[in-house]
Amino acid sequence: MKFEIIPLLTAQIVTHVDSICLFPPAEQGFASEAFHDGYIGDFHWRDGRVGDAVSLPVIIWYIRGASEKILVDTSFEETRYPDDPEGPQIKPEWGIERSLSRIGVRPDDIDIVINTHLHTDHFGNNELFRNASFIIQSEEISAALAPAPWFPFYSRAKSKHLLNVLERVESIDGDREIAKGISVYKLGGHTPGSQAVIIGTGDSKIAIAGDVVPTFFNIERDWPTGNFWNLSDVINGMQRLRTCRTVLPSHDWRVWKVYPHGVEVLA
Ligand SMILES: [Zn+2]
Repeated sequence: MKFEIIPLLTAQIVTHVDSICLFPPAEQGFASEAFHDGYIGDFHWRDGRVGDAVSLPVIIWYIRGASEKILVDTSFEETRYPDDPEGPQIKPEWGIERSLSRIGVRPDDIDIVINTHLHTDHFGNNELFRNASFIIQSEEISAALAPAPWFPFYSRAKSKHLLNVLERVESIDGDREIAKGISVYKLGGHTPGSQAVIIGTGDSKIAIAGDVVPTFFNIERDWPTGNFWNLSDVINGMQRLRTCRTVLPSHDWRVWKVYPHGVEVLA
């Protein structure tokens, strides 16, 4: 059985260095080296400050090769924020439907959507997938429906993207085989119910990590993300993903440099 894992660019966001790198050192050049193409040295933040920032792609993943057509995550709702440099940017050639059409897939073709978690950049177009069931960890559903006010990147307003498809949601609790050769690992850490998608078996497994591993830097340097619910679960989750041959991060431009044609797995 051969699977192809295809990364699709849907949007770009800008964030603080310490949001993807816990306690970044102040040393000169650290952030530009760690985040390569995404580093911006003189970003003008909304509050008037000028300084370090990192631009990140919002990646969704199409998995070809299973008997079901599977999509991992659905990016932002395509609202435009032209006057907000910190809001998501979507170039005309990006966006979820355009990216899918380039590989010959229509939203109605998708059988299964796996939401790695329910932050606004990972489930904002769930309604587009009218024939899909949605695989989501039960703890993630409760977190998204009633987030603590201090907990970032959840939005009660955006929980409509869950509620609108609720009758097609399969709420799970823990690891689960989703299709032959494709499973999820419940990791938590970044959010209460974060899950990674594992394609293949044995030594050849590939992981789509979700935001437990937002960039290659995090896994290569064994450095946790700065955006977490439970730090020890992030660290344990990264350790668990190390059993995979390749770990695909959720927000790194380097994905297309390393895997310009996606990743193939034989299982
Ligand atoms: Zn997230």
